[in-house]
Amino acid sequence: MTKPPAPGTFSPADGRSLEPVASTPVTELEALVERARDAQIRWAKRTLAERVEALERVVARMLDRADEILAILGEETGKSRTDALLNELSGLGPYLPVAAAEARAALKPVKVKLSPLDYPGKKIVTEAVPRGVVGIIAPWNYALGNFYKPIFPALLAGNAVILKPSEYTPRTGAWVAAQFEAELPAGLVSVAQGGGDVGAALIEVVDALTFTGSVPTGRKVAVRAAERFIPCSVELGGKDAAIVLADCNLDRTVAGVAQWGLHNCGQNCAAIERVYVEGVIADEFVRRLGAVADALHVSPDGPHADIGPLQSHAQLAIVERHVADALKKGATLVAGGERTGSGLGYRPTVLDHCTPEMLVMTEETFGPVIAVQRVAEPEEAVALANASPYGLNGSVWTTNIDRGTELARRLDVGVAYVNNHSFGGALANVPWTGVKETGTGVAASRWSYHTFTRPRTLFVDTNKNPDPWWFPMNEELAQMGELLLERARGSKAALLKLPPLLGKRVKAIQKLARGD
Ligand code: NAD
Repeated sequence: MTKPPAPGTFSPADGRSLEPVASTPVTELEALVERARDAQIRWAKRTLAERVEALERVVARMLDRADEILAILGEETGKSRTDALLNELSGLGPYLPVAAAEARAALKPVKVKLSPLDYPGKKIVTEAVPRGVVGIIAPWNYALGNFYKPIFPALLAGNAVILKPSEYTPRTGAWVAAQFEAELPAGLVSVAQGGGDVGAALIEVVDALTFTGSVPTGRKVAVRAAERFIPCSVELGGKDAAIVLADCNLDRTVAGVAQWGLHNCGQNCAAIERVYVEGVIADEFVRRLGAVADALHVSPDGPHADIGPLQSHAQLAIVERHVADALKKGATLVAGGERTGSGLGYRPTVLDHCTPEMLVMTEETFGPVIAVQRVAEPEEAVALANASPYGLNGSVWTTNIDRGTELARRLDVGVAYVNNHSFGGALANVPWTGVKETGTGVAASRWSYHTFTRPRTLFVDTNKNPDPWWFPMNEELAQMGELLLERARGSKAALLKLPPLLGKRVKAIQKLARGD
């Protein structure tokens, strides 16, 4: 067997060679961080409105250069222009204003309410302080779109950023960094190219980290970040389930399940990989789903190919192993199940009569494969859906919205849907998150700001007198303690006895401080 080409050196659409992109020597990361720190200090002094304005220029620049990035995405991932445009670029324009509104909410200082009796003259405000330099380690599957969720909040919060794109899609990462570099202060955004060694080295030098990728890598990353005590948001793999109830709108459900099972060639962390369908509609559901899969075009099959190829030989090998395992264990091939085209294309695949022993029902396939298991009733479907180590998205398809909502709430996932799936990832004001091995990360929305900012409690005391509970201990302080206990038990009278004691306490403290 010939050795597959090195990551990032060929186009998965047709296998043609691409000029390699040089890795960043790990010894240069310190220098990138130093430049980033210098720029960050000044960036953090800008108002949020000024930061938004600068980022608006970046977004405008990116949209003006749409042709450049769509060509790069086509070359590196094999996606068609329309696919890349719709699923990676077109969401960018509306993203920033919504992300900016979330930033205003997340970054707003909070004045803490204090009782003037217990805390005389004191003011406390909690402020969100940028972490400093944020590392963003990204996967290849949405080589452009995956950057939006971390990069906008990180910069809006006043941080500098170092991007580490996947070694499979280095040109997209370089292009993104170049657009930010062109409009923002030098060094504020930069790119570190390379594979796992560069990613691992980046963890050593940044102040905070977002990681999007596989579970095994995410676990290593989270451990090292924990050892360094730096905040780290990990967004990992999935094995999403869709539950299709007998009362669903079959036309819409078939189209929706096909969409979110096969979109991006199934290389979507929140792809529908498992379907649990009620037995009474299973034959018709599977027949129609198979027909949709058969009708889809795989890039480069025509100018409007529905899906692109798999990204890598390794990914293709996983898909083929999972399909073979399912067929060996008794699944029925309804559609697909074979390679197509001159690159890494694989036909949209539907497998029926799947069971929990099959890899397609347990491990992340990350390919254009929808595995269907027939169930007797919804409770069985919920139990099966939840019997997974992953927990990213999950959906229930039904015309009974109340029942669907109740079942959706019972799915062990970060994003639960009724009659849709995989939708929330494009929204800047919605937390994109998971449970279990999908990781603890929260991407997008004000909920993600824990990674990008730390809280600072600023306490200002304008009281001219010393606090009455300071040294020395004396009889008045003992009485104060007893009165405070009475007050805690609900006595209002105790409050009235406090003022004369307070005066005596202040005098005693001042006497001690004067050294009398
Ligand atoms: P991966 O884990 O192989 O690589 C992800 C990134 O980590 C790459 O940039 C890689 O170079 C880097 N890396 C590798 N080893 C590293 C190390 N030891 N330390 C630091 N960085 C290291 O994942 P992938 O194959 O690029 O992406 C596919 C996976 O990403 C799938 O499992 C998919 O479900 C997941 N994903 C999750 C989400 C989400 O939001 N939950 C979104 C997209 C993709």
